[in-house]
Amino acid sequence: MAVTHNLGFPRIGAGRELKQAVEAYWRQEIDRETLERRGAELRARHWELQAAAGLDWLPVGDFSWYDGVLDTALMLGAVPVRFGAGRDLDTAFHMARGRAPGRRDAPPCAMLKWFDTNYHYIVPELASGQDFELHPEALLDQVRELQALGYRGKPVLLGPVSFLLLGRYQGDGHVLELLDALLPCYGRLLELLRDAGCEWVQLDEPCLATDLDERAVRALEQAYHRLQVPGLKLLLASYFGDPGEHLDLVMHLPTDGLHVDLVHGTLDLSTLLDRLPPYKVLSAGVIDGRNIWRADLEALLDRLEPVYRRLQERLWLAPSCSLLHVPVRLDREDGLDQELHRWLAFAREKVQELVLLGRGLADGRDAVRKQLAECRRALQTRRHSGRIRDEAVRERLRALPADADRRASPFPVRAALQQRRLQLPLFPVTTIGSFPQTTEIRRLRRDHRAGRVSDHDYRTAMQREIAEAVARQERLGLDVLVHGEPERNDMVEYFGEQLSGYAFTRQGWVQSYGTRCVKPPILYGDVSRPRPMTVDWARYAAGLTERPMKGMLTGPVTLMQWSFVRDDLPPDTVCLQLALALRDEVEDLERAGLPIIQIDEPALREGLPLRRAGWGDYLDWAVRCFRVASSPVADGTQIHTHMCYSAFNDIMPAIAALDADVITIEATRSGMRLLDAFADFSYPNAIGPGVYDIHSPRVPAVEEVLELLRRALRVLPAERLWVNPDCGLKTRSWPEVEAGLAVLVAAARRLREDYAGADVDPRRVRV
Ligand code: GLN
Ligand code: ZN
Repeated sequence: MAVTHNLGFPRIGAGRELKQAVEAYWRQEIDRETLERRGAELRARHWELQAAAGLDWLPVGDFSWYDGVLDTALMLGAVPVRFGAGRDLDTAFHMARGRAPGRRDAPPCAMLKWFDTNYHYIVPELASGQDFELHPEALLDQVRELQALGYRGKPVLLGPVSFLLLGRYQGDGHVLELLDALLPCYGRLLELLRDAGCEWVQLDEPCLATDLDERAVRALEQAYHRLQVPGLKLLLASYFGDPGEHLDLVMHLPTDGLHVDLVHGTLDLSTLLDRLPPYKVLSAGVIDGRNIWRADLEALLDRLEPVYRRLQERLWLAPSCSLLHVPVRLDREDGLDQELHRWLAFAREKVQELVLLGRGLADGRDAVRKQLAECRRALQTRRHSGRIRDEAVRERLRALPADADRRASPFPVRAALQQRRLQLPLFPVTTIGSFPQTTEIRRLRRDHRAGRVSDHDYRTAMQREIAEAVARQERLGLDVLVHGEPERNDMVEYFGEQLSGYAFTRQGWVQSYGTRCVKPPILYGDVSRPRPMTVDWARYAAGLTERPMKGMLTGPVTLMQWSFVRDDLPPDTVCLQLALALRDEVEDLERAGLPIIQIDEPALREGLPLRRAGWGDYLDWAVRCFRVASSPVADGTQIHTHMCYSAFNDIMPAIAALDADVITIEATRSGMRLLDAFADFSYPNAIGPGVYDIHSPRVPAVEEVLELLRRALRVLPAERLWVNPDCGLKTRSWPEVEAGLAVLVAAARRLREDYAGADVDPRRVRV
C-alpha cells in the first residue's frame, strides 16, 4: 500500500466561511462560543472531504483563526508582554491586528510574506533570554475532535528551527541561541501528542528550501537528534523547493520519514532513493500544492512505479506543500467554461488525485483505468487546444529584435527632452495612481457587471468620477496628474480580464492574510491584447487638463506573480508575452498623447527565488520583460515605475537596470533609510521616495514631510527628487487624501523656496 497524506488543507472554507465568522466575531455580532462552533464545523467538513476522498492520514493542526505561525508562537508562549497574559484566540487577534474584543489596542506584530508565496504570516517577536512555555490545549483539542469523528490524523507543526528563523529577533547573539530553551517545549508537546494517541507528527522545516548557514545546519542536527520521543514517529517536511546541498543532512537526521517537494525542486527520484536510509519513509510531494493544474497521473505513475516497487509502504504520496495556496474545491466552481474546468484541480481534487495515484500503485493501473483515461483525455484537450496557442504571439516572440528592450537614448538625454516637454518645477508632486474607491464607485462597477447599469451610463458615471478627481488634483496644485483608477477593482484582474489567455473563477478564493482572501486569475494560454485596455479612460482624463497626465499600467512581472500561471511554458516566456501585450498598450497610450506612463511592479521583489543562486537568472528576465514593455516610447515620453516595499539593497543593480525615468517607492516608515541603498549604488535616474504613509489614516504635518524630504536631499540630488505618497490611495477617504496631498504640495513649495537661488535646474541632470 502506498500511503497517502496531506500537508495541510485550506482553512478558509469554500465560501470563505472562516472569514465571515471571524469578522462577525470582531464586529461582536456573534459570541466566542458561536465562533468556536463554526470553526469546529469547518474543520469537520474539511476532514470529511479528505476522508471521503480516501486519504490515509488527515492533517490536524493546519486550522488557524488567523495564521499558523502566530498560533505556533502562542502555543510556545512567545507572546510579547504588551498583549497581556492570555494565550487564547483573542490574544491571537490582538497580536495580529493590535486589537481584540475587550482589550486595549497595542501595536500589532509585523506581517511578512511566507517564503515566495502570496500568503503572509505574523512575525514572532523573539528576544535574547526569551522564555518559552507550552500551551498545547488548542492543538490537543483539535486532535481529540478529529479522533471523536473517527478519523486518523497526523498533527502538522512548524518545526523549531524554521520557527526561530522566521522570527524577528532582538538582542545579542543569534536567534538560534534560543533553540536550547525552545526544544523542551517541543519535546513535551510531542509526548503529549503521543499520549493522545498520535502515531505520526509532521514537523515542517521550510527553511530547508533557502540558503542555510553553518549555524542553521547545526541547529537542525541538534534539534532533531534531541526530539526523539519513544513511540512517536516524526515526518520532517521540506517544501517550496528541495533541500539542495542539505539533502544528506536531512536524509541522516533521525526522523522516521522525510517529505520532499518534487514539483518545485530539481532532485530526481533516483537520487533520493539511492540516499534514503532503509528505515526511513519517503513522502513524495508530487501533486503541485501551489498551482491549480490537473496532474498528469499517468506520467506520475511512470515515475513512481519503480520507486514503489522498491519502497512499498515506505513510499508516501503527498502534495508538494500544504494546499493552503489553492482554492478549496473545483466541483462547485461555475464561473469557468467546461473545457477549462476539466484542466484544473483545486484542493479537494488534488486529494482525489493523490488517492488515485495510491490506488494505481497498490492495485495496478487497471484498477483506476477509467479515471486515468479521463485524466488523459482532459490533458490531451489541454495540450492540443486551440485556446492555449496563438501562433501570432509565438512568432512575435521569436522575431523580437535584440534591442526591443532598449530606449533610444540614455537617461540624461531623455530627461532633458522630457523636461522641455513637461516643464515641471523642482520636486514635482504626483500620486501613485488610485484615489479613494468610494461605495458609489464600487456599486457602479458591481451594477455594471451585473447588467443593471448600461455601458453608456457606466461610462458617463466613471467619467464624472475621473473629472472630479482631476479637478481636485488641479485645485490641490499637483504637478503630474492621474485619472484615479475608479474603473479598476484590482490591478491584476482589471488587465487579466482584457487580455486573451486569462480566465477567472467565481469562488477560487485563497487566503492572503488573516481574513483577507484573493481570487487569483488563471493564466492558461498565450497572452495577447485584442484591444486597448486603458486608453479611453486615460485620453479622457488627459483632455480635461493642461497639466501632464500619467497613464497607468500594471507591469508584466506583477501580472504574472499574482496569477495562477500555466505550467506548460517557462515563466520567462509567459512573462515576455505579457510584456509584449503591455508594450502595445504603452504605444497606444503614447499615441493618445499621454506624456508619462507608469508601469507598476510591486511584485518584482517577491518573485525572487528562495536561494540566491537563482536570483541572477530571474532578475535578468524580469528586468528584460519590464524593459520590453516600457521601451517602445520616444525619448520625450517619461516612464515611471512604482514598487511598494523598502528592501532594495540587494537588488539595486536590477532596479537600476529597469531604466525607468522615475521610480516611486515606499519610504515613509523607514524614515528614508532605504535611500542609502540608492545613494551607495549611485542610482542614476529620478526617485520619488514616499513621504506620506497611506497605510495610516493619519495626515502628516508639513514639517514632518519636509524633514523626510531634507533627509532624502542629503543623499539625492535635488534635480532628481519627486514628492509623492508611499502607494495608491484607494483605501483612504477623500478628506484624508485631500489633506495629505495638500501637505505634500505645501512641503514641495517650501522646499522650492529654499532652492530658489541655488544652482539647480530641473532640465539638467547630474550624471
Ligand atoms: N497604481 C496602483 C495604485 O495606485 C499601485 C498599487 C500598488 O502598488 N500596489 O493603486
Ligand atoms: Zn504600492
